[in-house]
Amino acid sequence: MIIVMKIGAHENQVREVIQRIEGLGYQAHIIEGTQRTVIGAVGDERGKDRLQSLEVMPGVETIVPILQPFKLASREVKGGKSIIKVGDLEIGGPAVVVMAGPCSVESEAQMVQTAQSVKAAGATVLRGGAFKPRTSPYAFQGLAEEGLKFLDAARTATGLKIITEVVNPADVELVAAYTDVLQIGARNVQNFALLKRVGEVGKPVLLKRGMATTIKEFLMAAEYILSEGNYNVILCERGIRTFETSTRFTLDLSAIPVLGKLTHLPLFVDPSHGTGHWEYVSPMAKAAVACGADGLIIEVHPNPAEAQSDGLQSLKPQKFQQLMDELRPVALAVGRRL
Ligand code: PEP
Ligand code: MN
Repeated sequence: MIIVMKIGAHENQVREVIQRIEGLGYQAHIIEGTQRTVIGAVGDERGKDRLQSLEVMPGVETIVPILQPFKLASREVKGGKSIIKVGDLEIGGPAVVVMAGPCSVESEAQMVQTAQSVKAAGATVLRGGAFKPRTSPYAFQGLAEEGLKFLDAARTATGLKIITEVVNPADVELVAAYTDVLQIGARNVQNFALLKRVGEVGKPVLLKRGMATTIKEFLMAAEYILSEGNYNVILCERGIRTFETSTRFTLDLSAIPVLGKLTHLPLFVDPSHGTGHWEYVSPMAKAAVACGADGLIIEVHPNPAEAQSDGLQSLKPQKFQQLMDELRPVALAVGRRL
């Protein structure tokens, strides 16, 4: 249920409504709008009629049921788009945000060098995995905390924000201590213990769609994070499994307008994992911005042939620069900037 407060409702009235919601055994989530406050009451659907009694409380304008199974993620609870702040960087605002860097963190020199080149091209966030969820247990698994230190060194050298993946609930605190944005990978989109942990920590989270996750399941996964009180969630389309084998996955760009209708959360696209081939990254990145993505996450490596992982889909810095130059007019054409 959404409890819509009257314009100008007093904070005491808001507090009393929250107390009543909690007294009835529901969680209260406060969404401050420019005009008025709305409160999402989330919990057991079966007893929701009891919330109807809130309608007569002072300061309450009306009570509306949330029809979608995802509640806090839905446009019903928040009509406008969410802007997520990562320090001074805004995600989901007018500027398209580009995150770029290697698949895996390999050395300090690699990270600092990549950070300098992606920053010069216009990226504002450096990516790099220190904990890698690899398909094979024999493949490179990442440098763990040492890798986090290399990311930190690249942040200090360039001022870029950093994003890195966390794969294990037990590592969330460690990774959160280093990173600006926590990445949850496609393989963990329904790792509910991990989703709850990143929800508790409160740092911004980029949640990737699983390779066989429906839009509804994806939004329900986001709901796990939001329901812990962490509203800083970015959704990322990164390709789904289809019968097609010419690309590594099928980048489902239609997910962007579909998600945009259902949720207020910022929407990203990963054209690197979505295609699996560096030649296809640039056209799909431009298409992603054209169809309304709020940002991109792109793999860039100074020497893709030597990369520990995903070299085939990694752009060389100069190709990345070229892509950024081509993206600018696309962003302008759809009313955004880069
Ligand atoms: C990655 O970003 O390097 C990664 C492993 O992505 P995904 O979880 O989308 O496969
Ligand atoms: Mn990768």
